[in-house]
Amino acid sequence: MAKLEKIALMNNYDYVKPHAYLNKDGFDVTIEETYSNNVFIFYILLSNISTQKAQELLQHLKLQKKAFKVFSYQISGLVLKVVWNGYFTSLNAPKMEEFISSIIQLIKSLSIEPNNVCSFCGEEGADELVYVNGIRLLKAHSECKKAKIEEYRESQKNKPIEKPNYVGGVIGALFGAVIGIIPWIIVELSLGFLAAVLALLVGYSSFFMYKKFGGPLNKNAKIIVSAATVLGVILTNLFFASYIIYIADGALVFENYIIVYTTPETNLPLFQSLFIGLVMCGFALPTLIVKIKNEENKEYQLQ
Ligand SMILES: [Zn+2]
Repeated sequence: MAKLEKIALMNNYDYVKPHAYLNKDGFDVTIEETYSNNVFIFYILLSNISTQKAQELLQHLKLQKKAFKVFSYQISGLVLKVVWNGYFTSLNAPKMEEFISSIIQLIKSLSIEPNNVCSFCGEEGADELVYVNGIRLLKAHSECKKAKIEEYRESQKNKPIEKPNYVGGVIGALFGAVIGIIPWIIVELSLGFLAAVLALLVGYSSFFMYKKFGGPLNKNAKIIVSAATVLGVILTNLFFASYIIYIADGALVFENYIIVYTTPETNLPLFQSLFIGLVMCGFALPTLIVKIKNEENKEYQLQ
């Protein structure tokens, strides 16, 4: 059971992975779990406050940052977002309740009210919460909310479906990989050793050009960029083999490649370079894949 799920159960919060919900003294709170048991994000829905009031609240949070173990805080729209970071302590059920109470106490001491204005029509008496990607971001009249969700659905339906440009993406990824191997080749030919660490650049260059050529950011992006990167490393190796044949005045024919790759004097540096190049890909690609995942086009979910 996830940590937040356990806490929610003990403190009687509603829980829908990865969020827990509660109402404290009229304030609607969303708690979001993160990859770490020591980091939670709190979203507290406030009334529409003046910039001056917001500054005041942020100033107080700044003063108590250490005591509250608050890592960062900001107000966007009607929501105060607070990132709680326990560093090496983790947040248990009583501590979480205490933390929420202290924050709400602080908000109330500045005469900030809970939100009860409908964000869609601006009138008071909003009775329903609006969830955006699982976070309680707004309040609205149920009629206004229904209308807005319908409107949003329509706008999504009428949105032109973009055809993913895979041809451009693949060309871009290959082109980028080829550009990425240039520094490696230059350094290898002028210095001649350990230049294969520059294989790190190949993946980044490939991903950059993939995007520039209009490749879609989705699951396939990871596969295309990874394949282009590995291909780039292999092509570089073939280039070095060709270079060895060329300086020995040989013809660039298949038989000569067999010789270069089977003769111990020439195949050792080639395999070494290939090995380091592939290891560098192993370092670069996981980071790139996370980067692609973060940039994937996400859809909003309105509830
Ligand atoms: Zn309304």
